[in-house]
Amino acid sequence: MIKVAVNGYGTIGKRVASAILAQPDMTLVGVSKTSPNYEAYQAQKMGINLYVTKESLKEFEEAGIKVKGVLEDMIKEADVVVDATPNGVGAQYKQVYSSMGKRALFQGGEKANVADVSFSALCNYDEAVDKRYVRVVSCNTTGLLRTLCTLNRVSKIAKVRGTIVRRAADPKEVKKGPINSLVPDPASIPSHHAKDVNTVLKDLDIVTMAVVAPTTLMHVHLLDVTVSSPVTKEDVLSVLSSTPRILLASGKSKVSSTAEIVEVARDMGRPRNDLYELVVFEDSVSVRVNEVFLMYAVHQESIVVPENVDAIRAVSGFADGRKSIEMTNASMGIGKGYLV
Ligand code: NAD
Repeated sequence: MIKVAVNGYGTIGKRVASAILAQPDMTLVGVSKTSPNYEAYQAQKMGINLYVTKESLKEFEEAGIKVKGVLEDMIKEADVVVDATPNGVGAQYKQVYSSMGKRALFQGGEKANVADVSFSALCNYDEAVDKRYVRVVSCNTTGLLRTLCTLNRVSKIAKVRGTIVRRAADPKEVKKGPINSLVPDPASIPSHHAKDVNTVLKDLDIVTMAVVAPTTLMHVHLLDVTVSSPVTKEDVLSVLSSTPRILLASGKSKVSSTAEIVEVARDMGRPRNDLYELVVFEDSVSVRVNEVFLMYAVHQESIVVPENVDAIRAVSGFADGRKSIEMTNASMGIGKGYLV
């Protein structure tokens, strides 16, 4: 059993912790919290061991939340630490993980040089095997890489031009905007997403542009992908529909928006309405000789969760990427084919 600790129990950390509890080959040592908020109370109710920073011990005591120990105690117990602290904080913890001789995963909010390799399971699982530090790329980059490494199996990709419509905030975030504006973010082109894709697909010719929209549900990407030989729409739909972690939203199902996709996740009884799969709007898929166009939605809160699970196995020396992906998918009910 791989012993895993989760440092930072927020949007990503809580989902990764739940996913670890579902794995047959992993145990959850515990999670860390810095403030005794509702997430800490909920973790306590779920019987998850809570560890806190030394400075916040008293605050937790006063709030009546039982803690198992301090952060260092949790790290000591673990084989792998999943760092899910806010952007930039993970890099500050690297020294702690390294001084305690622990392997660690970082998230996409960290700079790529925090780790030995940036990771996307369908693209480069093998590169992460036995590495000490792996960075699971951001939600948008995971969406891009999952799509591109899948299309690459139809015909080698020559060029990608993409537009990213970013959700403004996660549903739980109360202080973020915009609430009535579309904001180029960044206004400069290419957006950082293209550069991030290049941390995994190093020589790919890719340009991305991004705009933030006042929604909290999902991101949407609009891609124009040039491949190196003529392909058909059927070729593209066939590979998209047969790849686990990708779902097609068909026109006939009347799922035509991110609102309806999230409603399907609710109807499916998915924990926290999560959709670990990329959701491609089937009607958007079109082909002009060797140019493929498509639109898809990315559930930002959960798409990186199965990637974290696979990356835990990879850094622990589990060399069979295909098998890891299968185990993760089976344990989390992750599908392929059609959304409904
Ligand atoms: P979050 O703010 O929801 O959670 C971060 C957690 O870390 C919070 O519980 C916070 O209390 C805790 N924390 C803060 N400082 C800490 C410290 N010094 N030590 C330990 N814990 C501390 O953030 P998030 O959205 O889960 O993002 C975490 C990482 O995942 C970031 O790198 C982010 O870029 C990346 N990511 C986020 C999303 C998303 O949509 N939310 C998607 C993919 C990747």
